[in-house]
Amino acid sequence: MRRTVGIKIHDLNKLDSALLGMKAFFLLRPKNEFKERVENIMSEGAEEDEEDVRDDFSQGTIDLLAKRAGHTCSFPGCDVFTTGPHTQPNKALNQGTAAHIISASRKRGPRCDPSATPEQRKSIENGVWCCGTHGRLIDSDETSFPVSLLKQWKRDHEDKIRLKAEGRLVTRGMITSISITNLARFEETQRIDFGKKTILYGGASVGKTCTADMVAGLEDIERALRWRDAQFAKERPATISYEVFSSGLMRWRLNFGVETSVQCDDAFVPTIYSGFKVFYLRDVFVPSDVEFDETKYDDTQEEERDAAYTKISNRSLLDDLAKLTGVPREGFITAIQTLSRAPGDFWEHIKIDGENLSAKVGDGYINFRGLSSGEKQLVLLDIFMKLAEFSSRHAPTIFLLDHWAIRSLDDGNLANVLKKLGKLELPFQLIVVLGRIPPLFDRDGWTVFHLKGEGGAFSRSPVSVAAWTGVAD
Ligand SMILES: [Zn+2]
Repeated sequence: MRRTVGIKIHDLNKLDSALLGMKAFFLLRPKNEFKERVENIMSEGAEEDEEDVRDDFSQGTIDLLAKRAGHTCSFPGCDVFTTGPHTQPNKALNQGTAAHIISASRKRGPRCDPSATPEQRKSIENGVWCCGTHGRLIDSDETSFPVSLLKQWKRDHEDKIRLKAEGRLVTRGMITSISITNLARFEETQRIDFGKKTILYGGASVGKTCTADMVAGLEDIERALRWRDAQFAKERPATISYEVFSSGLMRWRLNFGVETSVQCDDAFVPTIYSGFKVFYLRDVFVPSDVEFDETKYDDTQEEERDAAYTKISNRSLLDDLAKLTGVPREGFITAIQTLSRAPGDFWEHIKIDGENLSAKVGDGYINFRGLSSGEKQLVLLDIFMKLAEFSSRHAPTIFLLDHWAIRSLDDGNLANVLKKLGKLELPFQLIVVLGRIPPLFDRDGWTVFHLKGEGGAFSRSPVSVAAWTGVAD
């Protein structure tokens, strides 16, 4: 049965050919034949319409999808720009495509779903932004590229673009947030959203070390497991939720309760396989030959320790330093040799001759053992920065710096070190844990969180975490 036909936008090609046909018939044929011919052409379209309907994206949806994808392909690892300069100065290149997740057509096409409504098919939720190549690829093989996979890609890609837009993404990846519930001094869930460079600060026993250990747990789960019996309320399990970004967004979850378990994106797994490298400079460096009780740290002990340094050999000093960094001795020496060719960030010149590690002071070099505590800490800081830089070329890397490792720096030096770190363009993520914010702190480049609670080792009151407002306390 024929019926009157409304012409849709996508039928414009048919309309064009119909009009051409009309023109030809108008010139050559009698009037009634012309009318019949036009009706035939238009009704062909109508019959096809009844058979199949395509629900294409509106231009507004296409534009929005491209913007949300940062005008880059969502295919994992592709990241090609879908827009750019054309050779003609008044034109821009466009090689992006709004690919349909479920087919635009009701009856055919890849990932076709006849039960979907037209609104669902043309909604932005049903689009994934791709380059031309990958747009064609995902439509050529619906078995390899099912709906769930494309939706996952889209989420991961938009997450990545969001982090980039916020200026938070570090070259190879980073931890974007951690939430801790019912552990140490954290009673209710406390969440920290990390930046490229983050300072966590708070007084004694407010959960700084616990948080730092959880971050370190991304590489070495034993660091995190040290806390497995430290629930705030013993009768309830504790959870630590991580969001980390490397090739995509991954969600890890540690559960401490009657049993300890690890989850990745809700599935139980044997351990954390994050692929992250964490350089954790957490303690006052003490050579193994020197007796030192960290819990009774005071200035007298520091003097004793410095005196004891003079009795140890270059060889055992190098061994201990390498152990501190977690890289093999040879690798440690390589890092110092690199530093000896170019100045470090905090120390003008460090060098190693045989097993003699020395640093430039004034016109000459002084053996590491002869440096003051603060000087030693700056040398170590430079070495760790170099190691993290090496690592970041191959793996997502976090440099975690605890206040114990820089505690000999006075307020002025600490403020200078933080200012410098805040300005450096680092290829890795930096997290610094501090007891307090030094006066004259320049917060430029930093995301700062304050762990607030009643201090003291015996306090049992809960701690809360909040973004720092900038008021020193
Ligand atoms: Zn692509």
